[in-house]
Amino acid sequence: MTVKEQKELLISELSLVSDSPAFEAAEIIIFATDLDRSAILYKQNERLSASQRRTIKKCLAKRKKGVPLQYILGEWEFYGLPFKVGKGVLIPRQDSELLIDLVIEELYQAEEKSLLDLCSGSGALGIAVAKKCRNARVTLVEKSRKAFSYLKENIILNGVTVNAVRADIFKWAPKETADIVICNPPYITKQEMHDLQKEVKMEPTAALFGGKDGLRFYRLLCRRAHDFLKVGGKILVEIGYAQAEDVCQLFSSSGFEQVEVFKDLQGNDRVVSAVLAE
Ligand code: GLN
Repeated sequence: MTVKEQKELLISELSLVSDSPAFEAAEIIIFATDLDRSAILYKQNERLSASQRRTIKKCLAKRKKGVPLQYILGEWEFYGLPFKVGKGVLIPRQDSELLIDLVIEELYQAEEKSLLDLCSGSGALGIAVAKKCRNARVTLVEKSRKAFSYLKENIILNGVTVNAVRADIFKWAPKETADIVICNPPYITKQEMHDLQKEVKMEPTAALFGGKDGLRFYRLLCRRAHDFLKVGGKILVEIGYAQAEDVCQLFSSSGFEQVEVFKDLQGNDRVVSAVLAE
């Protein structure tokens, strides 16, 4: 079978399970062969080997069972950087890149600052900050053993020097408070958990479910603000598209000021930032 024939076959099979079959077909062929994106086009008449076809068949079978493409490929890009992902860790989302943009703005031309990334998962947020901001002293905190193993792999993969702590943020007592806290906590509500896409349901519940109303972790961040953050320091959290009002209210009534909401590229409310008042 040629590359072109394989691609067409994959597209027709993937269109049953995916909204972007052509994209996924190309990603799977790239994964199974040594071709890159352009080679798929200029080598479209090249024949695939038996072992390449076997790999593609296995990928397709997993994908048809609803396994996310990112888990099948084992690696995904976030903020232009590679991250190892797989069962047991949340896949970094493009929506979260907004939070990195805001941190970079915050750190641009600033002196050295300490930054705490809570609920780090794969480490995508904290590692991206460490990679892009030389003046950030980054600590990543993650509770899940499985996620933490990805996080450690991703630190090495990206060659950053950071501090990684495996701990539960409900109990963890940091030695010192940070200048900046970032967090993409689980924020999906109980109701939304039922309606998640099949692929998202394969991601760890612990990384998604934010309690009945989705706000459990924001309440904790407010309650423990002085354990994590210096007075005058800034917190930036990712939120669900419908949570801006509730999260702003929580911060405003918990000793934070300058509470701001930022929209992602889709136009959804995605990040809330706030400064811990004197
Ligand atoms: N943004 C993710 C989603 O919509 C949720 C991640 C989270 O709960 N932090 O699937």
